[in-house]
Amino acid sequence: MNGIADLIDPMIAFRRDIHAHPELAFCEHRTAERVANMLRDAGLEVHEGIGGTGVVAVLRAGSGSRTLGLRADMDALPIDEMTGAPWRSTRPGCFHGCGHDGHTAMLLGAALALVKDPGLSGTLHFIFQPAEEGHGGARKMIEDGLFERFPCDRVYALHNWPALPAGQIATRPGPIMGAADKFRITLSGKGGHAALPHETPDTILAAASVVQQLNTIVARGVPPSANAVLSVTEIHGGHSHNVLPETVALGGTVRTFDPLVQDRIEERIRQILRGAEAAFEVQASLDYDRYYPATVNDPQAAADALAVAQTVADARLAPEPAATSEDFSFMLQARPGAYLWLGQGCGSDSPPLHNPRYDFNDDVLETGIRLHIALARHWLQD
Ligand SMILES: [Zn+2]
Ligand SMILES: [Zn+2]
Repeated sequence: MNGIADLIDPMIAFRRDIHAHPELAFCEHRTAERVANMLRDAGLEVHEGIGGTGVVAVLRAGSGSRTLGLRADMDALPIDEMTGAPWRSTRPGCFHGCGHDGHTAMLLGAALALVKDPGLSGTLHFIFQPAEEGHGGARKMIEDGLFERFPCDRVYALHNWPALPAGQIATRPGPIMGAADKFRITLSGKGGHAALPHETPDTILAAASVVQQLNTIVARGVPPSANAVLSVTEIHGGHSHNVLPETVALGGTVRTFDPLVQDRIEERIRQILRGAEAAFEVQASLDYDRYYPATVNDPQAAADALAVAQTVADARLAPEPAATSEDFSFMLQARPGAYLWLGQGCGSDSPPLHNPRYDFNDDVLETGIRLHIALARHWLQD
């Protein structure tokens, strides 16, 4: 009997069940309970409530002293689903549009297979984390003592990746996902009559100038060899044709792969705002939040992961990092490890991650389970 093959249909059913019952950041109560119950029923030691709704299961086998963490994220997005799938979300405004339902099912499947037939020596921690989508569930688990309670010499995680062919795996040493920062700028004057501009600092004109200048930072202030993105995504100000507004607010995001470039961009924003204060007689304030660091793979762990992945599927070196971000970055700051992409084979006309029509491809679920198992057996040896 092939243990993994027998698990595929139940794991697809499980994936579709949590897809139909998605839960937002730190509210993954039903999902976490289902995961914990299935792990416990399989005979694993299970710990719940770590960093909120996080779950960790422990598998000890053989006499090996090595330890490993495999991580999946469980949260959904605040989006209305438009896939029309029979297993579509039953909850308005909540949807597994990033494939975390697939991640949860693949790691659960690996745990159920390994508990029956470990084929490894050491201690394996299955980490099911809450709140990856912008709320730092990984950091919350670490702050809650994740790695003190469940030591991990190494950590791995996968993300489903629509840009790659179905079942193809890719990773790379060094940065693989960007650091995500967000900024909020407020430009303040005193507000006044639009027909008397000489008496009122023009916060709208100041904002227009600031937006233009912010868009020169990457082009002129960052080395051409560095990767960076700055996007202004919000502008709010004014409510009447004859009033110069007292304030205008701007918002946006910065994505980088190198902390020095990140520092440089924040400093350039501050310089531009000081210039705008002088040029437009406004006051400028900046709220700059570095919410996710860059996801940086340990070179040896990435090389090991790529070699292991090649025993499971077509696996390739990813030529460049993605500018999107990931809170597994906090785990990789704490422990050496690697993050891998698992292709979904949706083609160029397919919806991207976070699109209301996106859905995890169940055809690659088996590859993901096999990859988790192979990574565990590779690292956890005597
Ligand atoms: Zn996402
Ligand atoms: Zn995701």
